[in-house]
Amino acid sequence: MSNFDEIVEICKRRGFFWPSFQIYGGSAGLYDYAPLGTILKENVYKIWMEEYLKIGAIPYDSPSITPEAVFRASGHLQRFADLATTCEQCKSSFKVESLLSNQGINLVPLNEDQAASLLLDNKIRCPKCGSFLKNAYNFNLMFQISSNGNEKLYLRPETAQGIFVNFKLLLTYNRGKLPMIVIQRGKGFRNEISPRQAIIRQREFNMAEVEVFIDPSNKSPFYPDKGEVITLLSNNGREQKKDIEKAFEEGIIGTPEHAYFMEVTLRIALRIGIDRNRLRFRQHRKDELAHYSSDCWDLEFLLDEDWVEIVGISDRGQFDVKNHQNSSGQNMSLGENGDIIPKVLEPAYGIDRMIMAILSSSYNKRESGYKVLSLKEEISPYVLAILPLQKKDGLTERAQELFNALRQIESRILFDDSGSIGRRYSRQDEIGTPYCITVDYDTLSRNVVTIRERDSQRQIKEVPIESLMEGFDFLNNPILQKFE
Ligand code: AMP
Repeated sequence: MSNFDEIVEICKRRGFFWPSFQIYGGSAGLYDYAPLGTILKENVYKIWMEEYLKIGAIPYDSPSITPEAVFRASGHLQRFADLATTCEQCKSSFKVESLLSNQGINLVPLNEDQAASLLLDNKIRCPKCGSFLKNAYNFNLMFQISSNGNEKLYLRPETAQGIFVNFKLLLTYNRGKLPMIVIQRGKGFRNEISPRQAIIRQREFNMAEVEVFIDPSNKSPFYPDKGEVITLLSNNGREQKKDIEKAFEEGIIGTPEHAYFMEVTLRIALRIGIDRNRLRFRQHRKDELAHYSSDCWDLEFLLDEDWVEIVGISDRGQFDVKNHQNSSGQNMSLGENGDIIPKVLEPAYGIDRMIMAILSSSYNKRESGYKVLSLKEEISPYVLAILPLQKKDGLTERAQELFNALRQIESRILFDDSGSIGRRYSRQDEIGTPYCITVDYDTLSRNVVTIRERDSQRQIKEVPIESLMEGFDFLNNPILQKFE
């Protein structure tokens, strides 16, 4: 089993995520967040939002269902498509770009004819049945839903358009000031040709998007200065470890705002516990850019052998606001003469992929073979588990009492009295709980407990319950330091 498969196995068994609608055979590309995953996801969103509120962002929440006019203006109706091929023999469909890249051909075909020729010339076979693939066609990734009367409706493939169409209202809310950073979390829907790798490529997924509106007539208000060093892979194929600020000064990164939001993105990724050594920024080749983008740097994570995009930071320029102004006939500009269209930088975060990156960064195996998720306290679904040593002599009742009391201080707390104490420790290790409190006979006689730390497995004995009750700050005071 690969590392990825082992993590997915834990996630399904312990309740991070499950394939949806399983009793009816499931449906490709749809996943439920199970109880542990739901908390983990909220913790990621919370940190993402906190980091953006800190730099003055304003939050937003628009509908997932969107009328056709919006996507005609944004170009999605015409151009949000992948080139696909369907095997004539077994009828399976695939994305041509993925089939080519599996053969080491990193090229995005320009049109159906070129895609078909590339399949034929390179003798690409169907990964399912082995037949040669011949045809190629454009496949729009948007889900159309049943319309109400004459109006055609779609599920949004990105949350961004809900922000762009209300740029003027948001600007008024922001007292007419730019820059303006608008953030929105929500579901995105894409009819992926071949959904795969659990939550990595789904048909409905969790996004966290940021639209940074900037006045193009002024000097950029954003400048990188955090001294963050990270691997950068430019679209000329050059890979180097570099300080992001220096990379901007040397012209590797095109604009100061792009570099600044790469720093913000890296800061969030590190804060939620993604391994720095498995991250890089990769710049899109010209032929990969989305129809609205003039430059894009992806934050990628190394998952087993493959680099996976987890965040895309795209320069959308004036594309969206200008198109909505032209299509709606509404004035979307600003400035004294009402003639300035803002330019937009968009960091778009895939929360599911970030979660997979967190899980993969935290996963390790002890020599004994036991599996551990070393999640950061801030991110783990539960911070603390209360475990009675045994299920007799009043230990369960005492543990339950302590659990009820501590729950008032820390809500991410569990009680577990099933199975042996060893099994319970390993269950908590597998779901990433950093601390276990064991209630034993000393608790009954002297009101003290044992605290066990997940990663070191150290046990600190004789911790007085009173000290836990006195407003113990589990997140900021490492328990072990306090009692060592
Ligand atoms: P994009 O607008 O294509 O750059 O997407 C923004 C982010 O959403 C990407 O960086 C991915 O992390 C995530 N994403 C895109 N498509 C999917 C998908 N089908 N399933 C899960 N996450 C996705």
